[in-house]
Amino acid sequence: MRILVSNDDGIHAPGLAALVEALQGLGELWVVAPERERSAASHAISLRDPLRAWEVPYPGARAWATTGTPADCVLIGARELLPALPEVVVSGINRGANLGEDVWYSGTVAAAKEGTMWGLPAVALSVCCGFDAPDYRAAAAFARRLLPLAAEHLARDVLLNVNVPNLPPDQIRGAQVCHQGRRRYQTSFDKRTDPRGGVYYWIGTGEPLDEPDPGSDVSAVAAGQIAVTPVRLDLTADDAGGIATWLPSANA
Ligand code: MN
Repeated sequence: MRILVSNDDGIHAPGLAALVEALQGLGELWVVAPERERSAASHAISLRDPLRAWEVPYPGARAWATTGTPADCVLIGARELLPALPEVVVSGINRGANLGEDVWYSGTVAAAKEGTMWGLPAVALSVCCGFDAPDYRAAAAFARRLLPLAAEHLARDVLLNVNVPNLPPDQIRGAQVCHQGRRRYQTSFDKRTDPRGGVYYWIGTGEPLDEPDPGSDVSAVAAGQIAVTPVRLDLTADDAGGIATWLPSANA
């Protein structure tokens, strides 16, 4: 099995190393990852800037670092650097959750999604550690068991977004197929002044007030379960058909 591994925390991220180590022996491992952290890059690709990629030594894999985004990495990996399309794409293990609407911001999920766009089975993995030190062990072990099955069974336009509680492996309470939940971020801005008197901002952090929603990824992780959320490329809201009843005419 030809496996393309990427992430959004960058080529030097411990979560990437944990994933590559866990996948040893499953097949040919090819890593293409951003040279620096690109968390929350979503699905951006580089159109106006050159995309540079260079081979780097990496234990247990052939690897490239790139100047691009996570989506760039999978795109150039699949289409240029690898000898042929990979058979499966895996992204992570991300340091931090990708639950609920995090999926829209996530570079981790976007790397997997780029694989899905090429018709490949793809899996994104994240550890829900907040600001705590991440324990990648449970996610790494689950990835090793999941990947061959996902490669065999996953529908062509669906990726798996996997979120793992930040717990020792023996405290994980199983794995659950979930729907995408909701997080309510209390975003505030931290306004500061630079040494020359210029005003700048940091987008604030703060823990989101996750809504209890049985069956959601948010609730599963809160209950100590691994949340496996199937995410579809087609974003159409099929249940919003009533729009046709109030849509204005195209011509005045
Ligand atoms: Mn990240």
